[in-house]
Amino acid sequence: MVSYEEALKIVLENCRPLAPKKIELEDAFGLVLAEDIYSPENIPPFDNSAMDGYAVRAEDVLEATEERPVSLEIIQDLKAGTFAKTLVERGKAMRIMTGAPIPPGADAVVRKEFTIQKEGLVSILKPVKRGTDIRPAGEDIRVGDLVLKKGTIVEEGEIGILAALGIDRVPVYPPPRVAIITTGDELVGVSEKLVPGKIRDTNTYTLLAQVRKVGARAIIFPRIPDKKESIIKVLEEALQCDVLITTGGVSMGEYDYVKESLEDLGARLHFWKVKQRPGHPMAFWTLKGKPVFGIPGNPAASIICFEEYVRPALRKMMGYRFLFRPLVKVLMGEDYAKESKGRLQFLRVKLERKDHIYAYLAGAQGSAILTSMAAADALALVPEEVNSLKKGEEVLVHLIHFPEDH
Ligand code: AMP
Ligand code: MG
Repeated sequence: MVSYEEALKIVLENCRPLAPKKIELEDAFGLVLAEDIYSPENIPPFDNSAMDGYAVRAEDVLEATEERPVSLEIIQDLKAGTFAKTLVERGKAMRIMTGAPIPPGADAVVRKEFTIQKEGLVSILKPVKRGTDIRPAGEDIRVGDLVLKKGTIVEEGEIGILAALGIDRVPVYPPPRVAIITTGDELVGVSEKLVPGKIRDTNTYTLLAQVRKVGARAIIFPRIPDKKESIIKVLEEALQCDVLITTGGVSMGEYDYVKESLEDLGARLHFWKVKQRPGHPMAFWTLKGKPVFGIPGNPAASIICFEEYVRPALRKMMGYRFLFRPLVKVLMGEDYAKESKGRLQFLRVKLERKDHIYAYLAGAQGSAILTSMAAADALALVPEEVNSLKKGEEVLVHLIHFPEDH
């Protein structure tokens, strides 16, 4: 039997970032860069107009006022995507749209609102300084700049930079393929008829949601009965994935064959049973170098064990630097007395912001209770040695569903 801290340490020691891979830009969102990215180009690639207006020579319009405008001949229309055919000489101007290249000879843009256009001529009502409303080449990024560092998470801003630089295949740590293996004779699928003695399989669906939320790829294997041969067969097949999650069949029951099956396959057991609640019978193995999580079958325990162990492990495999949910100190909003002394309790709590942030029990805390799981904003970590908490006492929580409006 290990502590939560020991168990987590063992799990993380046995998970390493997957081998980097180049993947399509469209699929890179949320993944972590596995290489530094140096810019092959200037962004923007050429001097261009920041405004709709007229490209002029600043020296031509030095004296311009509303009373005595300077009149220039319009010699070309420059839309974004086109370029100038000639120089802008003294006394000339080109009509220019935002994003169009600054024509040679011109050194400033006069915004449309400071001009009056009439029959091939433009009257300039105000002088401009050289460089006004010109976005110079390389203003944002210069050739050779280290633009994105290894370890950066590819969010929308990074996607924009990669697209601008023409990097259509991005070096990242690929999302792990996660096998979801559900065991139990009592389980039926969500669309199947319930007959006496059966219950619906919830863990396949909750684990699928959790794997997706991390950004990994879930592969669901057919639900297996409590029969050793069937479990072994599915485990062998699941070895095509990077990570295996089994749910159910790791308790002390007569028909809990997951442990035995993994032993037969030569898996190395790192721990079985953690001094925690819920999720006491959790187990962890490695099989052919791949992490295998034995998650207890009780639905709330399954969600919590994924949250506290599998999620950080997957994030480590995905190259993230920060593996854990934000850990925040809050105050208990009510008294709490522990049922299982000597074990760390993951308490499903709701948070309320008043003078401080207060935690209230989100409902009954049994391992099978899903409603309190659904209602919880956070998991409070009540340490092994703490048997009770008084209203107003401090407690650490992992924020799992931090509401956007908090
Ligand atoms: P086990 O870990 O197999 O001993 O299961 C513990 C409890 O969780 C039992 O009440 C099971 O019926 C239940 N259980 C196991 N697997 C699932 C599942 N996939 N969905 C819902 N409940 C489950
Ligand atoms: Mg079972």
